[in-house]
Amino acid sequence: MGIQWSDSYSVGIEAIDNQHKELLARFDRLIVYCEAGRGAEDIRQALAFLEEYVNTHFNDEEALMKLHRFSGYQEQRAQHAYCKEWIKTLRAEVAVGEIPARHLTETPKQLLNWFLKHISTVDVELGTMLRNSAAPLGDLLIAKGLLTLKQLNVALNQQRVTGAILGETLISLGFLTAQEFAKTIAGQSGLEYLDLRTFSLSDQALRLIPKETAQKNGYIPLEIRDGVLSIGIMNPSNVVAVDNAFHLTGAQPKVFLVDYDGYGDIFERAYFFAKNSVQQRLEEFSDKLNSGKADLGVIIPELTELLIMDGILKMASDIHMTPSPEVLHVFYRIDGVLTYGHCLPKLVQPLLVSRIKIMAQLDITEQRLPQDGAFTQQYFKKKYDLRVSTVPTIYGENIVIRVLSTQGALRHISTLGLNEAVVETMRQLFNKSHGIILITGPTGSGKTTTLYSCLRELDLLEKNVITIEDPVEYHLNFVRQTEVNEKSGYTFASSARTFMRQDPDVMLLGEIRDKETAQIAIRGSITGHLLLSTLHATDAVASIPRLLDLGMDKLLLSSTLLAILAQRLVRRICFYCKEEYELTDKERAIFSNAGMDVKRAYRGAGCSRCGNSGFAGRTSIAEVMIMSVEIRELIYSGASTEAIFQAAQRGGLVPLFTEGLNQVAAGYTTLQEIQRVVG
Ligand SMILES: [Zn+2]
Repeated sequence: MGIQWSDSYSVGIEAIDNQHKELLARFDRLIVYCEAGRGAEDIRQALAFLEEYVNTHFNDEEALMKLHRFSGYQEQRAQHAYCKEWIKTLRAEVAVGEIPARHLTETPKQLLNWFLKHISTVDVELGTMLRNSAAPLGDLLIAKGLLTLKQLNVALNQQRVTGAILGETLISLGFLTAQEFAKTIAGQSGLEYLDLRTFSLSDQALRLIPKETAQKNGYIPLEIRDGVLSIGIMNPSNVVAVDNAFHLTGAQPKVFLVDYDGYGDIFERAYFFAKNSVQQRLEEFSDKLNSGKADLGVIIPELTELLIMDGILKMASDIHMTPSPEVLHVFYRIDGVLTYGHCLPKLVQPLLVSRIKIMAQLDITEQRLPQDGAFTQQYFKKKYDLRVSTVPTIYGENIVIRVLSTQGALRHISTLGLNEAVVETMRQLFNKSHGIILITGPTGSGKTTTLYSCLRELDLLEKNVITIEDPVEYHLNFVRQTEVNEKSGYTFASSARTFMRQDPDVMLLGEIRDKETAQIAIRGSITGHLLLSTLHATDAVASIPRLLDLGMDKLLLSSTLLAILAQRLVRRICFYCKEEYELTDKERAIFSNAGMDVKRAYRGAGCSRCGNSGFAGRTSIAEVMIMSVEIRELIYSGASTEAIFQAAQRGGLVPLFTEGLNQVAAGYTTLQEIQRVVG
């Protein structure tokens, strides 16, 4: 504070400090309302109050004297109580409704500025503090590197047309993920952010709060711990939710901030499964089937749907239906690991297989040859693309369904879990005007997600970015996306030819998988475009022989390639049950071989929040090989991959396994996980 106090007035200081803290907190909230375009009237009222507050307490000489003196303590306390009362009123009013941004006039901002200026003249230090905490949401996002000024302006323009709130607009434009937005808002409002996707909701909580009640009041019940209900809200000023939960449980709920996407993803399915236990439903189906009274025409579609929905609930990337001599096993691939799901009676096997084949428009009479197909379906109010593959096995057809959500958002490259040096290297590469950048890894290593997050590094408002994909996995704003259709003759080659006439700057090719796509990549880059693509290869250096195998010319490859990033996804240790442990000598040796001295590491003990797996969510590890003159010459002269690997390491490549060990040492994942994924 810009005020000198004597030590004996410490109680008074504390009171004033608290009051300033209160002011700061209130200010934070105001900024959130303002920027999110919520409750314009409330913002005005709040600011009008601040105006009055400042006039009476910071401008009035007498009041100021009181503020400076211990004798003024009682008055301060009274004012404090009054402030609290007022905040309560304000909160209730704000919660009444969201007011579209177009109703916001300049007034709140003008008042805000006035307040800042005014308070600065009274108390310089407090003024600075407020100003810092008062960074508008847009500025904050820009400062965090999540948004550019140009993007903010585009969003503000669109917002004027649609009247939607700013956050929603930024998310729908693909400038920001719902998660990034929520985390920023959480930081401002002092609430803790919670990722619903990596949290196991408790059935107990879901049963306590009826679905309609939670929906109406805009929250989701999370869990009950020591008799206290936790809830997730999306709007930090949603006091109605808090009041409602209080009313229903008789205790103040613990409040977390969750993002719109997570809420949309989880809410419907959580309530569905809280009511319909999959195991119980399956037992009902089995009973009916065994009694011989089952209406198969009804049961089979229901069963198919239940198995797919269970996969979606578990966030499985693939659903496997594997026949055995006696039964049909259902597996789910979750976070990269195959997990046992269900066991079904053998008699449903042919019916289930036929049902899925019909949905994917496959030939049900053909059971001896492999087939591929796809269908799109909505589950829990969200659209999914399901890619079906059948392969005949000795016990019948084996089915794998790949589950793709078509409403993905571009993740920021800095949120993928890659180390900072890798991110910085990638950023520099995106400034190049031409050349090839490849992301490699096996299936399910997250290369597509990384490829798309690369697009966020490009200035999509200034560069014409086109994509040729099979299939289009993420739908993006400001990007011209096309999906090839080999059957109808719209191939990678023909679409590339067409797109070349569309004045592109950057081309994203879904995958280099054969001679044709390899040629397109080379041609694209030598004609002056930046080309981004993925390749199926185990590591960065292994990509070179793979590309040569696909018929790329040594000279062209060595002259057009800019960099190769190889990556893997590894499971993250659950935050709630993470524990430290002593490494064994054998394990320590693994680290010392990589030149690291590590004695202790972490693991997840398993808890209700991670479904006892000890893991929650995934993070990426990557190695980057930047083309140097030396590497180019080695490729051109046909040198061994070992020689290229040595040169790449001299050029700064940190091998995947070493990078994995770094993440173990940093406590993000376990040694076993790195060995499973990279070892
Ligand atoms: Zn856990």
